[in-house]
Amino acid sequence: MFDTHCHLDLPDFDEDREAVIRRAEEAHFSHFMIPGIELKWMGKIIGICEAHPNIYFASGIHPNNASDLVPDWADHVRENAAHPKCKAIGEIGVDYYREYCPHDIQLDVFAKQLDLASDLDLPVIIHCRTAYEDLWPMLSTWVKGGHGRKAVLHAFDEDAEKARLAVELGIKIGMGGPYTYKKKNERRIEIMQTVDIESILLETDCPYLSPIPHRGERNEPAYAALTLAKIAEIKGISIEEADARTTGNALDFFNIKA
Ligand SMILES: [Zn+2]
Repeated sequence: MFDTHCHLDLPDFDEDREAVIRRAEEAHFSHFMIPGIELKWMGKIIGICEAHPNIYFASGIHPNNASDLVPDWADHVRENAAHPKCKAIGEIGVDYYREYCPHDIQLDVFAKQLDLASDLDLPVIIHCRTAYEDLWPMLSTWVKGGHGRKAVLHAFDEDAEKARLAVELGIKIGMGGPYTYKKKNERRIEIMQTVDIESILLETDCPYLSPIPHRGERNEPAYAALTLAKIAEIKGISIEEADARTTGNALDFFNIKA
């Protein structure tokens, strides 16, 4: 399995990071992707990736951290992206749920990082919260604007029709803990039914968004196995097949040799 979105650098894991990684490896996780969220954590992320051959990272500024950036922030994102373990630009996007940053600044920082990704020929990891109407025109235009441009909508929480339109453009759909929820989950079940297994990336977004039965607790990569089991159930395939397919999707997406 490949956890394509885990914030293993955050202080939530400072006490037991190595044990968390070991637990995931014992649960057959072979690869991990840590998305960047702000410049100050990048050194720590790179340290973790250099200590673990199977952990990779993305370089980027999260929309919640897009205010008060240093003037040369984009140069730093570019420099970090030159590291051999960097496989994407992310996580980038728009977030109107938490009002941490004015919308025009978020959109500008997002647009600049999309340009950077096409410049460096890297896929993008997209964060979007209650801002799809502003994000979608920018993202779809970007994907269509050049050959081989790749994006994943991480923690996708829209609807089946929006998922279908994204998949049509080759965009991947990131699925995590909320897909296991038991109550009021018809919308996500419909998304799982609509999106072909080829377009699904498995993720936790840990320490956030724990799957059932860990909802409310700190999330960790090993728990993504519960989300994978739900995907397999909805798709009517074995967990082994769901694992092989989603892991293959992720290796291909991030251009990592197995
Ligand atoms: Zn994230």
